[in-house]
Amino acid sequence: MLADVVFPVSSPPISKGMLVCSDDGMVLALLHPGDVGYDLSEAAYYRGWIVPGFVNAHCHLELSHLKDQIQTGTGLDGFVEKLMDIRQNDPDTIARAILNADAEMYDTGTVFVGDISNGTNSFQCKENSKILYHTFVERFGFHSDKADSAYHSGKQVLEKLQQLQHNHRGNLTLHAPYSVSEKLLTLVCNEISQHGGILSIHNQETSTERDLFLSGKGALTSRLEKMGIYDGNWSAPGISSLQWLHEKIPDSIRVLLVHNTFTELSDLQGWLNRDAWLCLCPGANLYIESRLPDIQLFIDEKLRLVIGTDSLASNTQLNIYEEIKLIALNFPDIPAAMLFEWACLNGAKLFEMQHLLGSFDVGKKPGLVWISDADPEGKKIFKHSKAQSI
Ligand SMILES: [Zn+2]
Repeated sequence: MLADVVFPVSSPPISKGMLVCSDDGMVLALLHPGDVGYDLSEAAYYRGWIVPGFVNAHCHLELSHLKDQIQTGTGLDGFVEKLMDIRQNDPDTIARAILNADAEMYDTGTVFVGDISNGTNSFQCKENSKILYHTFVERFGFHSDKADSAYHSGKQVLEKLQQLQHNHRGNLTLHAPYSVSEKLLTLVCNEISQHGGILSIHNQETSTERDLFLSGKGALTSRLEKMGIYDGNWSAPGISSLQWLHEKIPDSIRVLLVHNTFTELSDLQGWLNRDAWLCLCPGANLYIESRLPDIQLFIDEKLRLVIGTDSLASNTQLNIYEEIKLIALNFPDIPAAMLFEWACLNGAKLFEMQHLLGSFDVGKKPGLVWISDADPEGKKIFKHSKAQSI
């Protein structure tokens, strides 16, 4: 096939590039105009761009039934309050919403998803999905005396995941620094150290997380008090939550920090030399907090970036290209090729799938995404352009 621009991702974009694939999607050749075998008469022409399949590094498939149920701009505090009110729905509605969300992701070019699961609702869908999944079985619990039960119930969910015929890969993980005890953090880190996996954790999605960790005050503290899980006996560490995580998580563990909306340079001290990855979820950040992370800071500091959609409770769609468009719209100096590197190759590397996914290198089966109505020059991400798998 031929396109105005092909983005191999592991090498610079090719104007009028030609991609030769086998019937099952394996890359056989990637040709520049004039190369031997470059035959216009044989190639299907796609007006626009062709890029490899996307990796969605952060999703909550099981929350898909909550689409359009929480208004935007509530702040994380208001969001959690609303979520507590409406989380129940009948099993058929939940299952149908999960299947639709999985189909939406596939149709819009996603080939691999890092998905947060608190329970087993998404497992049947995953077993039959065309998408590959890594499931993070997420635990939380602020009190140390709940750590053992949270850990053991998580192990039970993980065992059910491991019984699937397809898409059984995954590991235990933690919700956020403000929702876990140090004991639970240690149990989950020990589990990952022994059995492998990635520690995915929501990081600094709200500014009030900083107040809680620095002084034990602020809106998040009030929220935890109102929910009856903070009684004033916990002592604030006096450092930011990200610095606290840096102290508590062993260096050997790969960490995926999700959101990073309020992360500052001082929070990143010590993280730059670790196996740490930052996931950007701009759609959810704008939906909940009406603000985006300091992405330019992360680029300047050479952090490894990946992209996620978060859930349909906090986003209007699960389409990685729409997340790319949001970043491009707000940070117009970031080249399109760099955005595809985050969405494709970095995601593949994070989940150790780079032998198969992430770029158009010969021998890989990365999936094919057609970006229609795209800039023929291969530079600008147009607002009206659209992604679909082919
Ligand atoms: Zn999330």
